[in-house]
Amino acid sequence: MSSSVALRLPSIDGLLRHPACAPLAERYGRDSLLTGLRQLLDELRPGVLSGQLAAVEIGPEVLAGRVGERLAQQQRSQVRRVFNLTGTVLHTNLGRALLPEEAIEAVQMAARYPLNLEFDLASGKRGDRDDLIEGLIRELTGAEAVTVVNNNAAAVLLTLNSLGARKEGIISRGELIEIGGAFRIPDIMARAGVRLHEVGTTNRTHARDYQAAIGPRSGLIMRVHASNYSIEGFTARVATAELAELAHAHGLPLLEDLGSGSLLDLTRWGLPAEPTVRQALLDAADIVTFSGDKLLGGPQAGLIVGRKELIAKIKKNPLKRALRVDKLTLAALEAVLGLYRDPDRLAERLPSLRLLTRPQADIHAQALRLQPLLADVLGEVWQVSAVEALGMIGSGSQPVARLPSAALCCRPQVSKRWRGRYLLNLEAALRGLPIPVLGRIGDDALWLDLRQLDDEPAWLAQLPQLQVDR
Ligand SMILES: *Cc1c(COP(=O)(O)O)cnc(C)c1O
Repeated sequence: MSSSVALRLPSIDGLLRHPACAPLAERYGRDSLLTGLRQLLDELRPGVLSGQLAAVEIGPEVLAGRVGERLAQQQRSQVRRVFNLTGTVLHTNLGRALLPEEAIEAVQMAARYPLNLEFDLASGKRGDRDDLIEGLIRELTGAEAVTVVNNNAAAVLLTLNSLGARKEGIISRGELIEIGGAFRIPDIMARAGVRLHEVGTTNRTHARDYQAAIGPRSGLIMRVHASNYSIEGFTARVATAELAELAHAHGLPLLEDLGSGSLLDLTRWGLPAEPTVRQALLDAADIVTFSGDKLLGGPQAGLIVGRKELIAKIKKNPLKRALRVDKLTLAALEAVLGLYRDPDRLAERLPSLRLLTRPQADIHAQALRLQPLLADVLGEVWQVSAVEALGMIGSGSQPVARLPSAALCCRPQVSKRWRGRYLLNLEAALRGLPIPVLGRIGDDALWLDLRQLDDEPAWLAQLPQLQVDR
């Protein structure tokens, strides 16, 4: 205000010619630089007019530096790697299963070269993309036929619409579930054109309830694996085999949405039992649907397996075309399924299974190793300890089962009234690292569950950059 000479912003042309801007034009392109400079000058203009900005704040070098930072920020990918130290292994918001090397290589091949996606190399005729993985899935599940779509929600929608449109779908009230966000069985049924006929009660549904519901308008019986909640106590549920018998006696198909579904019995690795696809088919479910990126440990996909004539009907539905998987997914899926042929080595080769079965002693040893390093960076205000913790499988598998794990537990040594703020600040600082670190807050502490800290060097390398606001 007091300066007698009016301050003026440098001209765009002048800036573009300035040596400080040349490397930016080289790096980000002249158009991006021009846009960036215009935006910055527009923002600064009011401050210059009102005299609130000093000459040093609008020098060409300073402006070039600021534009450079912005352009770098804009160029940084929005899809970013993170450290998932939340304790939930198959975290839907963090991309679920990690792919094995075999699948990553297959994806690269499929991305880089033309491939026989819908082309039968034996006959030279047009092929069907499902054929690429049908043999493997049949072998691994005992199914007669297979089709694959974009995810399990799509699998359920497509199956319901193909087999039950304009008819009634009979389902237990205990299975009318909502799964993460917007997937609710009653809504999906409605959108599939199937009229919901709910039977039984939330905690108990008997064979006679299904029996009484069957009539001329019935189209199918559906069973849904109650993935993300558990009903305990006074409960009753009809076994799949019994329900299949009832359905078949009335000429109805039984469809079973397993959600996660597993191809192998997980108890052999000490994990909680999860229904297998093979068993559901042995119990005579006609169609079984499950996800590719939950316990299977593969890419996002929805697998529909079961009786041949029903799969044929599903594949003829025009919706199939809208829900089909892409070549990258198929390539990854085939590679992952291939690993299942050798169950003995699966836990070494499939990242999700390797992480799920990592021994607690291992994780605890890692926590003890990292504890002093984190404590050192965080300083005295924080008490950092290596403690046992309980994680989860995630993605709706075994909602009540816990995975014994170990964590770095960070407690702010401040009065109760400030703790919340300290925790949020630490959480934000961890999120602000070049590779954001995601933990969880609970019990007045921030927990970093180390089950999934594979890349310890990368984690350690960025630790010195951690700066927590007070
Ligand atoms: C997770 C889940 C789905 C949805 O599967 P997505 O692959 O996430 O689309 C459907 N049904 C059940 C029972 C599930 O657990």
